[in-house]
Amino acid sequence: MTFKPANNIQDLQYFGEFGGVNPSISDSSTYTFLSAKTMFDTFEGNADGCYLYSRHSTPSNLYLGEALAAMEGTETANVAASGMGAITPTILQFCRAGDHIISSRTIYGGTYAFLKNFAPRLGINTSFVDITKLDIVEASITSETKIIYCESVSNPLLEVADIKALAILAKKHNLQLLVDNTFSPLSISPAQLGANVVLHSLTKFINGSSDTMGGVVCGSRELIDSLRNVNDGASMLLGASMDSLRAASILKNMRTLHIRIKQHSHNALYLAEKFEALGLKTVYPGLASHPGHKLFKAMMNEDYGYGGMFTIDVGNIDKANELMELMQERNLGYLAVSLGFYKTLFSAPGSSTSSEIPEEEQVEMGLTDGLIRFSIGLDADIARTFEMMRTCMTQVGIL
Ligand SMILES: *Cc1c(COP(=O)(O)O)cnc(C)c1O
Repeated sequence: MTFKPANNIQDLQYFGEFGGVNPSISDSSTYTFLSAKTMFDTFEGNADGCYLYSRHSTPSNLYLGEALAAMEGTETANVAASGMGAITPTILQFCRAGDHIISSRTIYGGTYAFLKNFAPRLGINTSFVDITKLDIVEASITSETKIIYCESVSNPLLEVADIKALAILAKKHNLQLLVDNTFSPLSISPAQLGANVVLHSLTKFINGSSDTMGGVVCGSRELIDSLRNVNDGASMLLGASMDSLRAASILKNMRTLHIRIKQHSHNALYLAEKFEALGLKTVYPGLASHPGHKLFKAMMNEDYGYGGMFTIDVGNIDKANELMELMQERNLGYLAVSLGFYKTLFSAPGSSTSSEIPEEEQVEMGLTDGLIRFSIGLDADIARTFEMMRTCMTQVGIL
């Protein structure tokens, strides 16, 4: 049977306390117990269904977590205050001093900085590899390796990871495969392809209105319980918990995620095809010229397309900046980091979101300084957008 992530979200039936069509928001940081014994049991981790304190869990956070778990098809999930607030405790829950991680070298700048600069302070070291080269991934495994870490579609170079093959490799060597699926919600379902853990920054497409931060870890009941454990759970103890009001608002936005993703993908494919036809160096997994195109196609859930992200290379940073400023002036989008907004967002990753990556490594991985990353918006008239963008490109001398 084909996996239907949007159906899974919509099939969840929640009523509010007074029959509201949305679940009631639990606006409390702490919860009463009718008996002291139950409070003791809850601390011991044996009182299912009881709430203790909102850093541990809240009804609103559990509703959102269940919707995300349904979307990814995992047993359960734990939401966090940001994407990094989900990613870093998960890594720390699996690793202790002396352990080793294999990570794709093209990942989100914050995750890269954590693995490269911060985790070594705790004795956790990472080998950064080209994740599309499975032989290199396997050759990097040591007896200390615990995790293979990658993004389904990487930031900002849009490399596509072969999740099925990586999952087989992880299983063979008894490793955990952690996949950040922020760039391709609904389109790709990593857990269905064998990933042990799926991570998201909810800040991006899933919430989709650029008004809040959020993150989630989707995985087994055992993992999620361990992350929340009051004695040694990294999520519980590091404390990046989501607020209930935000959980409620993100859940409401999630109900239109499938419509938004289809439109983001439709618009991005339209522009990427047009830009490529104009002779611009365009990287989009939906283009036949993309090295990961066939792989993405083989992994994807029908209907949701290849996502809203693409890059073009305009040669140098001055041209990139000139073009982005002009496009903003013409109201074609905003010169801003982040992604998944209704409006197109663009930035030059070399000098912004990936600036944590040293320059010589940027060159090695193909992150050129004329690269512009686009998060394509929900424009109703994408043909008009294209014509206006083309005019800007002609004006700054790129075409
Ligand atoms: C933004 C992002 C993150 C970090 O999420 P925050 O919500 O900013 O903490 C992680 N991974 C990817 C791919 C991202 O785009």
